[in-house]
Amino acid sequence: MITVMKFGGTSVGSPEALQRVTRIIMNEKNSPVVVASAMSGVTNFLVSCAERLPVNRENIIAEFRKKHVDVAAQLLNDEQMAEFMKDFNVRMRDFKNLLEDENASKDPFYKDNLTSQGERFSTLILSHTLRAAGAKSVALTSEDCGICAEGRPLSGSADLQKTEAMMALKVKPYIDDGVIPVITGFYGIKGDGLPLTFGRGGSDYSAAVVANAMNVDLLEIWTDVDGFMSADPHIIPDAIKIDEMNFGEAAELAYFGAKVLHPRTIEPVRMKHIPLNVRNSFKPEEPGTTIHHLRKQMESMLMSVAIKTDLSIITISSAEIAYHPEMVARIIEKIAENEVVIYSISTSLSTVAFLVHSNDVKSILSKLNTLSPGDIERIEVKNDVALVCAVGDNLLSKCGVSGDIFAAVKEAKANVEMISEGASDVSLNFVVPMSKATDVVKILHRKYVRGESNEGL
Ligand code: ASP
Ligand code: MG
Repeated sequence: MITVMKFGGTSVGSPEALQRVTRIIMNEKNSPVVVASAMSGVTNFLVSCAERLPVNRENIIAEFRKKHVDVAAQLLNDEQMAEFMKDFNVRMRDFKNLLEDENASKDPFYKDNLTSQGERFSTLILSHTLRAAGAKSVALTSEDCGICAEGRPLSGSADLQKTEAMMALKVKPYIDDGVIPVITGFYGIKGDGLPLTFGRGGSDYSAAVVANAMNVDLLEIWTDVDGFMSADPHIIPDAIKIDEMNFGEAAELAYFGAKVLHPRTIEPVRMKHIPLNVRNSFKPEEPGTTIHHLRKQMESMLMSVAIKTDLSIITISSAEIAYHPEMVARIIEKIAENEVVIYSISTSLSTVAFLVHSNDVKSILSKLNTLSPGDIERIEVKNDVALVCAVGDNLLSKCGVSGDIFAAVKEAKANVEMISEGASDVSLNFVVPMSKATDVVKILHRKYVRGESNEGL
């Protein structure tokens, strides 16, 4: 049996955290395959370097080196440190070459290459720490493993089939020999062998890709929170940890607001029926949240309420647009040129409305302006709205659920600006003004997650 264990930036961010993680891995009964993020702060540092270069090259190298060597020195004895430095210097040489290569910096994928560097060093430290604790371990980069990726700069996707074939050749033999592979998260390699990152926070997705490719028995995402919660604990102090959810619920929540997991993590494991556990590396005795195909029936109407803030609604009016689907297609095509995420769409006879992130509004408007004037009569933008995502059992098939939910919205004196119901049976999503979103969540949580009926906030 094999378990993929993924550790995030804070879980590998200090000598103490690395020691805790080493114990967690050593206690694993199945054969572990480890995937790790960069140490916390390192990817942000690399992103800022990309903006500063070529200025300050020497300082960047010195700071990056010190950050990693200092941590390793606190975990390894002199002999182990000497071994570590051999591997470290090889990777450091590649890092320096990358910073100094004027040609490389003109490549549209240069930022992918630069920001993927953090994972190469965190995995090295973790692998050597495991060896110091008596395990057999090897640090492997995505290049070593053959994690194949395709797509545009900074937003790659894995090629699951190719990756499966490569990992069977390159990683499986280590597991058969009882060696623990520690693999870089966050990026794969393109056809030309150069890195392509999976978007910020993408190490969770990497771990799911590795789990899929190696057909493992379990994926564990070790992070710094207890698991999925019934609401954001910053807003709802008595939010409850969710013990069990199905893949669809976890995907909706991750996509629409809960920041526990990268939303793309679910699909590669769902495809192969691999259960996923989200756990807190700072509290390894806690069971976390288990995500799988089926779960027990819930007692409460709602399992969780998430909000996504800083959104805007763009409403486009055009006579009888409903009779001109080709016009809707042209509008969507324009918006899609910018690769923006559309969180919701709703149409009427003469309008079509899109819910998008507020940061994307400006570029969408300039794209829409390139449509022929006959296509559009008017465009309106409503800023400062939030999407509320209520997740529960059979929301579509149970009679009266929307009535109950919107009664709670009324109690918060919030106007519903847009609704998306019916697209998924596990969630009911609607848009309210940002100023009311917290009140809506508080009331929904109190009434339908906790099941308390007293009035007021
Ligand atoms: N280190 C990358 C980031 O900070 C990937 C990850 O942490 O998941 O975005
Ligand atoms: Mg993360």
